[in-house]
Amino acid sequence: MKADVLIVGAGPVGMTMASELARYGLSIRIVDKNTQRTDRSKAIVVWARTLELLDRMGPGVAERFIQAGLKAEYANLFAGGEQIAHIDLSGVDTPYKFILLIQQSETERLLEEHLAGLGVKVERQVQLEKFVPRADSVLCSLANADGSNEQLEASWLIGCDGAHSTVRHSLGMSFEGSTMLNDWILADVHIGGIQGPPAGDIHWHAEGILAIFPLGGTRYRVIADAGESASTAIGEHRVPTLEEVQRILDVRGPKGLIASDPVWMSGFTINERKVADYRAGRVFLAGDAAHVHSPAGGQGMNTGMHDAFNLAWKLSLVSRGLCAAEPLLTSYNAERSAVAKLVLEATGRATAIALMRGGAKQSIRNHVASLVFGLAPVRHMMANVLSEIAVGYPDSPLNSSFGSGHSGPAPGKRAPFRAGELALGSGSMPRFALFATENNTYADIMKEFPEILEPKLRPPYDEKGLWLVRPDGYVALRAGSGDKGAVHSYLRQLGK
Ligand SMILES: Cc1cc2nc3c(=O)[nH]c(=O)nc-3n(C[C@H](O)[C@H](O)[C@H](O)COP(=O)(O)OP(=O)(O)OC[C@H]3O[C@@H](n4cnc5c(N)ncnc54)[C@H](O)[C@@H]3O)c2cc1C
Repeated sequence: MKADVLIVGAGPVGMTMASELARYGLSIRIVDKNTQRTDRSKAIVVWARTLELLDRMGPGVAERFIQAGLKAEYANLFAGGEQIAHIDLSGVDTPYKFILLIQQSETERLLEEHLAGLGVKVERQVQLEKFVPRADSVLCSLANADGSNEQLEASWLIGCDGAHSTVRHSLGMSFEGSTMLNDWILADVHIGGIQGPPAGDIHWHAEGILAIFPLGGTRYRVIADAGESASTAIGEHRVPTLEEVQRILDVRGPKGLIASDPVWMSGFTINERKVADYRAGRVFLAGDAAHVHSPAGGQGMNTGMHDAFNLAWKLSLVSRGLCAAEPLLTSYNAERSAVAKLVLEATGRATAIALMRGGAKQSIRNHVASLVFGLAPVRHMMANVLSEIAVGYPDSPLNSSFGSGHSGPAPGKRAPFRAGELALGSGSMPRFALFATENNTYADIMKEFPEILEPKLRPPYDEKGLWLVRPDGYVALRAGSGDKGAVHSYLRQLGK
């Protein structure tokens, strides 16, 4: 059997990857060793940038997520019962000015349905056992539930197979980082006594942290640290009782909250790890297989899905012979590894600050946080970072810049959202978009690169400049207005 791409793992990242590659017309297989997709809530936040990227996947995709979730417009931070921060998402430059709370089981359901609409079925109870990289392909051994085996020759293999990734282990890649010492509890419970519109609330208490997120109706996600870990066994977590959850709510939360009817109780420890390289020849890693970190800020699943959006268009252009493998494929690791490094640092720092112990230290922390979050620019910056609107690739090998004097987004930045404009990269082929005036000047370039350039110009961000924007909505090239030589040489360098 042959395929362009074998995707191992049908979690949110694998299914996003499969959807994007199928949209671009590649022949793919997606396998998962489990019998069914998760029925757990796990990752409960889909951020604005992810919704923007889902919007490109097809008409109504982002809207279906919104319909299945719950909108919250802000996140609050309390310390010692006092509110010290109010992060409002309504000022973020995106059509999606809110936090979308949606259970991972729903995210996976919507992705699987979307994938089915593209004619791709997740092959369940099929496990990747091993693979052999070759010069032009990867020979993969798949084990089926009935005990039979299949040899599949794929041009590319993508490991979206989670934190314990078979693909990563088989490549012998180390998962550099550490495990935090604290135990954490996770409880999806019903809570009575919460007032006001839906919001994510974080409470810093002398005893520890408590986070409460609405999941719809009276159902909430509670996360709290539960002291230093008593267990040394890997994968062994302390599952809380309802009484313990109630005690934590009583001590660390606002008065009068009553927990009942637990839906899911679990425990976890935090790992902060990433691989050094997301790629080894024809084999790639994405999502938890490549990076894991603290759940602070709910960035994990979103970051993994962005890995998929980043790789899919590049692999599609290379696989179709429209672009050379380099520098496109190398840029995947350069860009996404840099993003994961920042996410690891930021979430690690936020977790360490929340876990700070000692009365004096905590009161200095609370005082400083109150002053810092009192500044509107800081709150705005936080909203941009959390929503992942601020994610960019400033050091990407794909960035190019010529000339000066023009404002507008720099190479590597997300192209700003403009109302009424078609979502960037929403077609059935990954195409760059040219933002420039003077239509006639560019007609010959349009003719030379019809497969990788959108057929219509878009208005520039500033009359003095032109912008070439990638299929995933990030600026590739900024140059002076009319500098068609810069556009031409950029597209030529992609290896047409
Ligand atoms: C208890 C818990 C709570 C969480 N809470 C949050 C949260 O609040 N916010 C957040 O952002 N994230 C959270 N996460 C993390 C989030 O769930 C992950 O970041 C996300 O699931 C990663 O998606 P993925 O597709 O990379 O991997 P996974 O979802 O782990 O999917 C990997 C898939 O690969 C399959 N697989 C593995 N090996 C093979 C093989 N050899 N052959 C075939 N299939 C294979 C597995 O069966 C699995 O379905 C939580 C996770 C857990 C466990």
